[in-house]
Amino acid sequence: MAAHQEKKLAQERKHKTTQNDTQTSQVQWGRAWEVDWFSLGSILFLLMFAPLIVYYFIMSCDQYQCSLTEPLIDLLMGNKHLSDIWNKTPTLTYRAAAIYSLWVAFQVVLYMFVPDFCHKILPGYVGGVQEGAVTPAGVVNKYEINGLQAWIITHVLWFANAYYFHFFSPTIIFDNWIPLLWCANILGYAVSTFAMIKGYCFPTNAKDCKFTGNFFYDYMMGIEFNPRIGRWFDFKLFFNGRPGIVAWTLINLSYAAKQQELYGQVTNSMILVNVLQGIYVLDFFWNEAWYLKTIDICHDHFGWYLGWGDCVWLPYLYTLQGLYLVYHPVQLGTANAVGILILGLIGYYIFRVTNHQKDLFRRTDGNCRIWGKKPKYIECSYMSVDGTKYYSKLMTSGFWGWARHFNYTGDLMGSLAYCLACGFAHILPYFYIVYMTILLTHRCIRDEHRCFSKYGKDWKHYTAAVPYRLIPGVF
Ligand code: NDP
Repeated sequence: MAAHQEKKLAQERKHKTTQNDTQTSQVQWGRAWEVDWFSLGSILFLLMFAPLIVYYFIMSCDQYQCSLTEPLIDLLMGNKHLSDIWNKTPTLTYRAAAIYSLWVAFQVVLYMFVPDFCHKILPGYVGGVQEGAVTPAGVVNKYEINGLQAWIITHVLWFANAYYFHFFSPTIIFDNWIPLLWCANILGYAVSTFAMIKGYCFPTNAKDCKFTGNFFYDYMMGIEFNPRIGRWFDFKLFFNGRPGIVAWTLINLSYAAKQQELYGQVTNSMILVNVLQGIYVLDFFWNEAWYLKTIDICHDHFGWYLGWGDCVWLPYLYTLQGLYLVYHPVQLGTANAVGILILGLIGYYIFRVTNHQKDLFRRTDGNCRIWGKKPKYIECSYMSVDGTKYYSKLMTSGFWGWARHFNYTGDLMGSLAYCLACGFAHILPYFYIVYMTILLTHRCIRDEHRCFSKYGKDWKHYTAAVPYRLIPGVF
């Protein structure tokens, strides 16, 4: 009898341990708790070199007509010293500081104090208060989605000024581009440092904080998952969308205005870049509620990577094509212009439809039609830190049955179109496609690693059903 009881107890202990093991492994699906050497090396490299890369690109346009090789040749041949280049670089000015402060303050006001009205008047647009995804700690945050409205108000004011009020020149951004770079850096470093201190001293949700014990990793990848001030000022939503992406189209407009001022006309390549990137930006704001379900908001913590990246990297490097075209006003032949437009539009179509398919599928919990049919999917489950079990589904229909990240493939096609609009005289405009390829391939791998930790064997079933990542039959 005693032996029988002992055996039963042992069996129960084993069952409990297995459950705990599963639980422990399944709740490791958020950002890493430990830093491997490769990640640390990459982070140190980016912390040291990313600001220099931005400076190098912008300086080479300012001083070397966008040639990336000439500054290096000059330095290597001893024709110039670093100090010569640095001394020719415009410094921070009061004017730039005033422009930048007003710009950021205006975006804060639009974000915080103007509740969304677009969702009341635009059919099909989802705005106002929306919920984000479940965090690893099991929290569901609410967001005020009013980015489209902020974008529209900002651009209406921009055009009103350019064509009617003339308070400032529409070339203002280009004319102060390097002094503004210093302001953007100050904000980028300030907000990242503040986010780190906040993570230690007064986090918004302590359970969703992660400390690896490595200062550089925590500074770069962030401690807090969703840092907020008050109930509504969400750092991730604000910094990615507002100073970064609202600015993107304004910066391009400023470049177009500069071309007009310098050459008396705006080239078709500049129009192409403005239109294609404008569609991408408008798409972002039209789908801001969907953005709450993307990796940036659902999985990344807020550190230097997002804080500095949104303030500096995004507005300065995503707009390189327009900047290049100010210095090299390329006029494309009709066939080339049409070809690039078609490539950009097909890329956008794939990007949008793929993202829409997943969004629709998740919103309706699979009760929808994808390409006219009921979608197929793989059932999966995961756990939050408190041990609550959740169920989810991974779709294997539509573009999600072609490849696991076909939305990235569409994005890359669009990115290539922007670059091609600049012709082949220099490599600088092609930085974007190289960067996006690295970013999205790395993101694929990062996301899949995370999904595997989250869903375990269910993720394996999914990858068996959809074996390719970006290009069916190739990768
Ligand atoms: P996705 O929109 O592809 O989201 C990935 C997440 O979707 C996964 O973590 C998983 O989350 C869920 N998921 C994965 N497979 C499936 C499936 N088969 N069915 C249902 N859900 C699935 O990635 P991103 O957030 O990175 O990108 C969103 C868009 O933003 C992309 O189009 C990308 O190109 C673009 N982008 C642009 C950038 C730029 O700088 N221009 C930078 C980054 C992205 P879960 O845990 O919920 O299951």
